[in-house]
Amino acid sequence: MSRAGKIDTGPAAGLAAAFADRYGREPDGLWQGPGRVNLIGEHTDYNEGLVLPFAINRATAVAVGLREGRTARLASGFAGAEPVEVDLKAFRPETAEGWTAYPLGVAWALEQAGASIPGFDILIASDVPVGAGLSSSAALECAVATALAELTGAGLSRAELAAIGRRAENEVVGAPTGMMDQYASLLGAEGSAVFLDCRSGRAQLVPLTLEAAGLVCLVIDTRVVHAHATGGYAARRASCLRAAEVLNVAALRDLSTADLARAERRLDEETFRRVRHIVTENDRVRRTVDLLRTDGPGAIGALLDASHRSMRDDFEISCPELDLAVETARAAGAIGARMTGGGFGGSAIALTPVDKEERVRAAVLDGFARGGLRTPEIFTVLPAAGAVRIAGP
Ligand code: ADP
Ligand code: MG
Repeated sequence: MSRAGKIDTGPAAGLAAAFADRYGREPDGLWQGPGRVNLIGEHTDYNEGLVLPFAINRATAVAVGLREGRTARLASGFAGAEPVEVDLKAFRPETAEGWTAYPLGVAWALEQAGASIPGFDILIASDVPVGAGLSSSAALECAVATALAELTGAGLSRAELAAIGRRAENEVVGAPTGMMDQYASLLGAEGSAVFLDCRSGRAQLVPLTLEAAGLVCLVIDTRVVHAHATGGYAARRASCLRAAEVLNVAALRDLSTADLARAERRLDEETFRRVRHIVTENDRVRRTVDLLRTDGPGAIGALLDASHRSMRDDFEISCPELDLAVETARAAGAIGARMTGGGFGGSAIALTPVDKEERVRAAVLDGFARGGLRTPEIFTVLPAAGAVRIAGP
């Protein structure tokens, strides 16, 4: 790849050379898939509702080379990821283990979609933090899906590749996630958010021009994941499904704010609050999209704040660290802030005027230090392009 243009920065820096060292051959190309931040629309995806994520300028890069036969060799710079060699002929979704379930799951799902996948060598490098709510899993899946689809001439659209990444995560990794992450990682574009209707699969780009508005999007990774995160996610999902049954709708997506009074009469107090979060969150996504189109990102702060309150009080998926991050960022000058991702830990985002960035960072660090909490990781993200080939012959 050095012949085609050396990559000096980002996760792909030095990756072609490392691939050649490890496998004794040149890769056929380098691809990358970005992580994502969900701007607004939390837990709405599995309720067939609306989400508004954006692909970020942090990505997982893969160097890939096809090989004769049906053996795959996989390695990653990710801590604890042991290199493996597997026989693809013998691969079964239920036997996939550890981190290799993501790339091998994608290869399997591509085959299920009709692609013919030969053996391959792959080396992975990433600057998407793992488990921070930025979807390092989708970044990896989408990088691999884009690479293998292109190298094998599978002729699949980006939306089809997103479905393949999701299938890998659902059926091979075994995580019951919605479609948001893979769509964001594949359909994202610089300066845009991806407005996705999780029922129809329709995706539209919406301008998210932070720089022009004098704003930065700070990610505050609390670096905590509470023990009940997985159980909490499953429990929220189950209550939403139950509520839809009681209210006799196909999904909570079918309710509007005008239906809330009826819902309150028919549901217990806690389930009603779960429903109110989903219904008002869908409404906030719509209003955010409208405001981004008319007034720009400077106008959406109050909607981010309202989204956080709804997750904290009605859906009960926040935690003290996320609340602290949001409150201190707002008090120090952010125009809007909310937790992002599944909840019970992970990251918050704070939309912040450029000239207040340092103040917000300092205030959050100080707040965590005073609380005796682990130092959060704070960095900015920009809306970036979706998965793409970055080098190759
Ligand atoms: P996230 O919120 O970051 O998506 P997940 O638990 O969904 O967290 O996915 C993280 C998992 O994805 C890791 O534990 C690992 O198995 C896999 N993964 C992510 N990035 C990499 C990488 N660069 N190399 C190998 N495996 C990775
Ligand atoms: Mg994930």
